[in-house]
Amino acid sequence: MAVKNAVKSAVKEKVISKDFKEYIRDVNPDVGLDETIKRLTPEKIEKTIKAVIGGRSSRIKAVMNTCIHCGLCAEACQWYLSNDKDPTYAPVAKMRMTIWEMIKRNGKVDAEFIKQCARIVFTECNICHRCSMYCPYGLDITFIIGMVRRICFLLGVIPQRQLDQAQAHIVTLNQVWLSQNDWLDVLQWQEEEVGADFKDLRVPIDRDGAEVMWLPLGAEPKTGTYHIERTAKIMYAAGVNWTLPSKDVWDSSSMSMFVRDFVTMQRIVRGLYDNAARLRIKKMVLTE
Ligand code: SF4
Ligand code: SF4
Repeated sequence: MAVKNAVKSAVKEKVISKDFKEYIRDVNPDVGLDETIKRLTPEKIEKTIKAVIGGRSSRIKAVMNTCIHCGLCAEACQWYLSNDKDPTYAPVAKMRMTIWEMIKRNGKVDAEFIKQCARIVFTECNICHRCSMYCPYGLDITFIIGMVRRICFLLGVIPQRQLDQAQAHIVTLNQVWLSQNDWLDVLQWQEEEVGADFKDLRVPIDRDGAEVMWLPLGAEPKTGTYHIERTAKIMYAAGVNWTLPSKDVWDSSSMSMFVRDFVTMQRIVRGLYDNAARLRIKKMVLTE
């Protein structure tokens, strides 16, 4: 009974924002948000906000001032629609409760505010761009939400799962912490698997001048290895001259893009193109 009551009260527990009373959410513990904010100082927060917003604050103000609150963008947002049209999920509210407040307070916001911003921009927005496309004035809300993500990334306040994937990309240039040796090992293992059915079929690594270079998603060689075997069979049946690169970058995903880590984003794209140039391939085929 005592356990039942504890569960009941935990379910009822809500977080009410001290800055926006209408922003009420379930408690959702996440060390990526709860623990990381303990390292923040007011100086660090202010400096980071000013560095990211920089000379763009007038552009952001122009967006806020141009908005006529027609609500078209809200009707495009899956978060708003799937939460009974709760106005705190509307795209404009997401801007108002994050970057607009940062500008209004000249960067002088506390760590709890940053945690709330991170929750809004990482867990209540997919950066899908639909709101920006629906806006009759073409106001780029997604760009602005992306700026808030960058502020949170630079402050290290990101939900744990996204933080892990972003750090994996920084360290290994793939989202699953796969080492170079493991990558090659998986390819060779999958070639052996395919060999059981097709004797002359290969999973070709670093084939110079191939027509196609296939670039999987990080999860494929880690948890979906059968995708490699099946892709090899498809390429074989279609008669495609294809290859996979032996070196980084082979993971075509970019978790860095979702946290707005511009340096790693560049390293990923450069690595993909370096492989294409090194092997003189003609087309890149990406899983997504
Ligand atoms: S970018 Fe974010 S706010 Fe805009 S429609 Fe998509 S999920 Fe909603
Ligand atoms: S669609 Fe554009 S003008 Fe209308 S509420 Fe959204 S941002 Fe404002």
